[in-house]
Amino acid sequence: MDALDAKYPFFATAREAVADAAVSLPELVAADAPAVERARERVERALLDGTVASESGAFPAESAYDAQAELLSYPIARILVSLLDSDPAIEKYAAAEAATAIDRIREDLATDDELRSMSTPTLALEDVLAEFDLADAIRAESPRPSGAGAATATGAGGAPGRDPEHYWIAVGPYLRLTSPSWGESWRLVNRALADGEVRVSREELLDALEAAVEDRVREGLPFELAAGEGIAAELESGVADLKRLLSERTYAGPVDVVAPELFPPCMRNLIDKADRGTDLSPPESFALMAFLVGIGMTPDEVVAFCADTSLDAEGIRYQTEYLSDDRGTQYPPPTCETLANYGICHNEEDHMQVAADPLAYYEQRVADAEEITDWRERNANAGEVEGE
Ligand code: SF4
Repeated sequence: MDALDAKYPFFATAREAVADAAVSLPELVAADAPAVERARERVERALLDGTVASESGAFPAESAYDAQAELLSYPIARILVSLLDSDPAIEKYAAAEAATAIDRIREDLATDDELRSMSTPTLALEDVLAEFDLADAIRAESPRPSGAGAATATGAGGAPGRDPEHYWIAVGPYLRLTSPSWGESWRLVNRALADGEVRVSREELLDALEAAVEDRVREGLPFELAAGEGIAAELESGVADLKRLLSERTYAGPVDVVAPELFPPCMRNLIDKADRGTDLSPPESFALMAFLVGIGMTPDEVVAFCADTSLDAEGIRYQTEYLSDDRGTQYPPPTCETLANYGICHNEEDHMQVAADPLAYYEQRVADAEEITDWRERNANAGEVEGE
């Protein structure tokens, strides 16, 4: 069982390591082993914070858990999330595993080659592509030689000593791993396409790989488990705690006032970016949609609010309907900490001290405001004037 298996527990080698390990999950659960505590944390953080990283610190250097507990917590977390009996919880869990994995992959890829061979166990891009059967489907673009014509394609590693900025993905995997709901620029008609391959930037390639991880994690969930028997019975109190936590977190209900001038800076920045016609990355668009739904806007209102931005109506509808599922209170917007990790939050004047997530910050600003005119009212009045 090595640290890489623990970092990427959905990889085939990690599954083999679990199968080869002489441990029984029911016995671990019965003994309330550290892997069980970590599994609870994994699911709790996935549902509330959109990450599965341990609060005790980054694995492996700072984490309170060893490689065995970290690795075995993954299959136990899958059982826990199955027992929550909620499709949105499974979606949210898979998205959080994928978001955490892609952060780790990004860090691994940034690790210096020398360090890579010496100390920390890290992955190379080729390893990730091979894991998802994409080695033959993705090629790095060589840097354009000065004065030469079109860039050419090489293996996934690209030119030695330098990370390529663009890659070419075979059209089949591109369509399977990406979605037009991510924004206009993801539509095939808006892409450079040559010889059955689609050109993507390095960041876009990571977005596609994140989707591959998410699919892998979601595969096979939920498990069919008889309630009140065996491992399900042992995990009953953990599942009850998670359900209680979710209902407490969402008890207050949405603030249900749309006052864009009071939106927190992170959300205003995202709206400004979309207003300028720039595409939002999937985490940016998720954060914005989760916020707008979180303050009580309906999918139709969000579509109207985001008209004339880079966000397309179909993508907005898809995301907001999914987020406003009637059990969708399980989708609180990501926390300030998560948004800071994505570079979405800049914590102006240290206002992260005021609230732990953008929704809480907005609720506080609404509560402090003396007079508010709801955007919905203004919008309706403007519509009436135009109609006259
Ligand atoms: S501290 Fe929180 S609310 Fe403020 S900009 Fe950052 S993420 Fe948004």
